[in-house]
Amino acid sequence: MVSRASADGRRVRVIGAGHSFTAAAMTDGVLLRLDAMNRILEVDPVSMRVRVEAGISLHDLNRQLHVVGLALPNLGDIDVQSLAGAISTATHGTGIALGNLATMVVAMVLVDGKGEIVRVDTGDPLMSVLPVGIGALGVVCEVTLQCVSSFRLHAHETIEHLDDVLGDVEGLVASADHAEFYWMPGARRCQVKRNNRTDAPLDRPSKVAVVRDKYLGENLAFGTVCRVGRRWPRLAPRIAKLVSSSVSEREFVDDSFRVFSSPRLVRFVEMEYGIPLECLGEAVQRVREVTRHLSFPSLFPIEVRMSAADDLALSTGSGRRNGWVAVHQYRGAPYESYFQQVAAIMDSYGGRPHWGKLHWLDAEQLAARYPRWDEFAAVRSRLDPAGTFRNEYLDRVLGPIV
Ligand SMILES: Cc1cc2nc3c(=O)[nH]c(=O)nc-3n(C[C@H](O)[C@H](O)[C@H](O)COP(=O)(O)OP(=O)(O)OC[C@H]3O[C@@H](n4cnc5c(N)ncnc54)[C@H](O)[C@@H]3O)c2cc1C
Repeated sequence: MVSRASADGRRVRVIGAGHSFTAAAMTDGVLLRLDAMNRILEVDPVSMRVRVEAGISLHDLNRQLHVVGLALPNLGDIDVQSLAGAISTATHGTGIALGNLATMVVAMVLVDGKGEIVRVDTGDPLMSVLPVGIGALGVVCEVTLQCVSSFRLHAHETIEHLDDVLGDVEGLVASADHAEFYWMPGARRCQVKRNNRTDAPLDRPSKVAVVRDKYLGENLAFGTVCRVGRRWPRLAPRIAKLVSSSVSEREFVDDSFRVFSSPRLVRFVEMEYGIPLECLGEAVQRVREVTRHLSFPSLFPIEVRMSAADDLALSTGSGRRNGWVAVHQYRGAPYESYFQQVAAIMDSYGGRPHWGKLHWLDAEQLAARYPRWDEFAAVRSRLDPAGTFRNEYLDRVLGPIV
């Protein structure tokens, strides 16, 4: 299909689960879905490597890995993405010793812009360029992942004063294998989540508690207050208090993949930047100041996470540890002014926006933030010389093929 489209001068894009907030997967040419390429092809129990068809959803992958005693070392907040989509945008979770999902890739098979199959294995220099490709380098068909033995997490969620947390960001980072916090603009306290590996037996929340907390609390009730806030923005401070006070402390032990991801049923838009970790506390303080003076209030919490450095060319973690600041707004509510003010703060730290989330940067600005930018550009021109995988979004963020 790629060679045919390329010969006809048509463009090709692949869409995963369509969970990016940008038009990264859009095209007016040929749109491919790899949903049916969803099998695990090979499991090596000794090296703990698995070869997988790239269209599989993270949800299915996690469960199938668990059956064979394996797991991905880290995950983001949801699991509905396709594996290829999540890798291509450097989807990440939290944990200062852990890289994003693309860092787990040790071999790949893709179809390049000429319709040729490219197989790349560990040790090939291309392996440090191909994983985070935003769909610009080819159609990713197979991925080999370095997994770990399946593990449990002890989840501990606490309510703490934002000032205390920001006063000791290093302490927060070091306090857990996976630490993060959610802060509702306007509130004085925030919800801190610390997940640590454990050998303790399963101690899952009851089904009733899951329905009450995850579905009714975090989604149904939260969606309702968001609708109220969108209609009557002046109520936002009271909503912030209500949302913050409705979150309670809890502790449980569960399989890692069940702890990492939650249902997210309330629709929103999001911008997330990775900045050098040492700037995180100051940056969040500045964002807090911005939220005090918004013409339309933020109805969604700010999420703060951290991730390890890696050596992948266009990975947001390329060469540096990141502190992550994610701002959200309920769908249909104004977000541009809010996000742009936050983006200006993140830009002042040389921030790198998540490849699947909203931002306003172009190729020239982004190139200055990625030391290996030219290397990526060279590989792109080799694999897709005619621009078969170009679209409007890539034209903006990657620029022309040189
Ligand atoms: C509710 C929600 C929660 C989220 N939580 C997190 C989080 O915790 N952490 C985080 O980092 N991100 C998070 N994201 C962002 C999300 O992980 C990324 O945007 C991810 O890319 C979405 O995967 P997808 O399968 O939907 O890919 P799509 O959005 O469909 O595509 C993303 C990109 O990958 C390309 N692509 C897809 N499949 C292929 C393929 N086979 N070959 C080549 N290119 C391909 C597309 O062309 C596009 O450029 C979240 C998004 C939402 C909506």
